[in-house]
Amino acid sequence: MKNILVIGSTGQIGSELTMKLRREVPGSTVVAGYIPGAEPKGELLESGPSAIADVRDSAGLSAIVDTYKIDTIYNLAALLSAVAEKKPLLAWDIQMNGLLNILEIAREKGCAVFTPSSIGSFGPETPRMGTPQDTIQRPRSMYGVTKVATELLSDYYFHRYGVDTRSVRFPGLISYTTLPGGGTTDYAVEVFYAAVKGEKFTCPIAPGTYMDMMYMPDALNAAVLLMQADPTRLRHRNSFNIASMSFEPEMLFAKIREYIPTLEVRYEVDPVRQAIATSWPDRMDDRCAREEWGWKPQYNLDSMTRDMITHLKEKLL
Ligand code: NAD
Repeated sequence: MKNILVIGSTGQIGSELTMKLRREVPGSTVVAGYIPGAEPKGELLESGPSAIADVRDSAGLSAIVDTYKIDTIYNLAALLSAVAEKKPLLAWDIQMNGLLNILEIAREKGCAVFTPSSIGSFGPETPRMGTPQDTIQRPRSMYGVTKVATELLSDYYFHRYGVDTRSVRFPGLISYTTLPGGGTTDYAVEVFYAAVKGEKFTCPIAPGTYMDMMYMPDALNAAVLLMQADPTRLRHRNSFNIASMSFEPEMLFAKIREYIPTLEVRYEVDPVRQAIATSWPDRMDDRCAREEWGWKPQYNLDSMTRDMITHLKEKLL
């Protein structure tokens, strides 16, 4: 990785991944790709080049790859699960036609490509506990359909054309820098904001609903480590299960109350998000990622909660 394009650089993951790559990959140029209406600001804008990069505009992407001699593309453009259910055709356009544009450019110009999959690539028939790396994937949401197709298309370009595609199935991601963009696991971020601000939290996910979750620093490490991994060790490509913690809402609220005892919660379950959440795994088995490229998370529920509260107090109070 030397010259890197991050598409969707102003989103929850992109805003932090772009900065991490600029800090940690020696001699790299990291271009922050964005779409009009979601422009980079502050440090993200000032610390390196940025360019309009709409995945539906193949000529525009191709020009950026030529201008900056891009060798690696992080493709983070997507409509997340709850938004994709409201706009399924747009989700298909961005996630599938957009991906095809990127893979074609990668094939022509020799770029490596990372396009994340998700716990959303699984469905109601998937084994819930210890979800295996290779298992049944029959999601019923448009988000999930595009994620399975992303995995398959990315593998196709690797096997058929030798394009260096690699990716992970991210769990719900928890971070304090940028708010999430409309996913099923957003509650696990939003409750921290409510707790720190002293506001009552309304939870859209029912008690007892377990989902895999991860603190952002671990997710970012996975995205960088996998793209730097020795390709001869990779038996899988798209996409690796990665896991660090799994909890249901009451477990998270109890943990936050150890630090902020005044947190008040009421439930108003959103049927769309709840149906998606119920169909997702409770806990993925990530042994393949550990064995093939050394994946190892640093944070658990307690250390993540402490760190989130510390940083959000600095940010909000
Ligand atoms: P986000 O919604 O915060 O950001 C998505 C980004 O895509 C935004 O910057 C948006 O401006 C950009 N975008 C939208 N349409 C675009 C287009 N046509 N062309 C180019 N860019 C476009 O999402 P995120 O949480 O940062 O997620 C990034 C990736 O990680 C997605 O593929 C998502 O499915 C996956 N993922 C995220 C999570 C999570 O919890 N955040 C979990 C699993 C997987």
